[in-house]
Amino acid sequence: MSDALAPLPAITDEVLRVENLSVHFPVGPSWPFGKPRATVKAVDGVSFSLKRGETLGLVGESGCGKSTTGLAALRMLQPTGGRIVFEGQDITGFDKARMRPLRRGMQMVYQDPYGSLNPRMRVRDLVGEPLAVHKLVSSQAEYDERVAGLLATVGLLPSMADRYPHEFSGGQRQRIGIARALALEPSLIICDEPVSALDVSIQAQVVNVLVDLQQRLGLSYLFIAHDLAVVRHISHRIAVMYLGRIVEIASRDDLYARPLHPYTQALMSAVPVADPEVERARPRIPVRGEVPSALRPPSGCRFHPRCPMATDVCKTVDPVLTSTGGGRAVACHLVHPPVTSAVAPSPMQHSSNESRVARTA
Ligand code: SF4
Repeated sequence: MSDALAPLPAITDEVLRVENLSVHFPVGPSWPFGKPRATVKAVDGVSFSLKRGETLGLVGESGCGKSTTGLAALRMLQPTGGRIVFEGQDITGFDKARMRPLRRGMQMVYQDPYGSLNPRMRVRDLVGEPLAVHKLVSSQAEYDERVAGLLATVGLLPSMADRYPHEFSGGQRQRIGIARALALEPSLIICDEPVSALDVSIQAQVVNVLVDLQQRLGLSYLFIAHDLAVVRHISHRIAVMYLGRIVEIASRDDLYARPLHPYTQALMSAVPVADPEVERARPRIPVRGEVPSALRPPSGCRFHPRCPMATDVCKTVDPVLTSTGGGRAVACHLVHPPVTSAVAPSPMQHSSNESRVARTA
């Protein structure tokens, strides 16, 4: 990716709101036939909103709950708690029948552009299948015309409709996946690591296709990735996740100019800079060890066993995601020191889902 940032499209009203979302998985040797022995809190009190025409980048290490958050937001996974509002409707409790008409408006682009396409289907049917399923075309001619239009939208030739997925490069296959996601004219697309399986040279092409489509169609993206350089190019705002929670959320420019959470700072310091002199001179912020298990998250701040700036209070008091103004929120005692008075207990000392609603601006 080059360092020149493309202008991002204007943002209007809200498409998706996720409030205090949690997704917990019971686990144990006998589950699902016996009592679960424990609970994996894959997502634990996540809140964010996404406006029309906006891209929210969701970043963090593997296993932090990014993909689970995306799947739950689409109701492809049942949330354990919280609320999901899509296009003004609370869809948290909707069953399959009530979700079916809404599925047209929310689509997903997957990480593996080969695995997500049926190798036995021609591109014509891979892209056109959603049109047929939702009965959006009335003749073969109309079907072919819509498929050709969708392929052209993502920069592929209509003549490619008769080929099979294995006849395409990784980048072209991802374009086919995007064309299929666009077939139903969604307002929201969850992009789950859509370029991480591609060569670096191809990543920029696919990201540019997504930005171009957003500008033309007003799409909203929840862009899940672990590569901060890619996320920077496409996102208006970025949320950083750690062990099932958002620890910092801010505009792209604020986050990259001045990351406030020690975990965000560590992630940023690991992103390589093109200029070798700058790269050599800039400080690295070390993060110790591996991500702890979501089965037994650490007490207090979940990041404290790895945080180079942890203090005693971090081991016992769970920091709450709290606004710093200007649309930014951070969950860290360095930024928002906890109230320690016994007379006035701090809301930061609560750890229930209810207390974890982000106090954002
Ligand atoms: Fe580090 Fe403490 Fe901030 Fe957690 S609350 S990120 S342990 S300084």
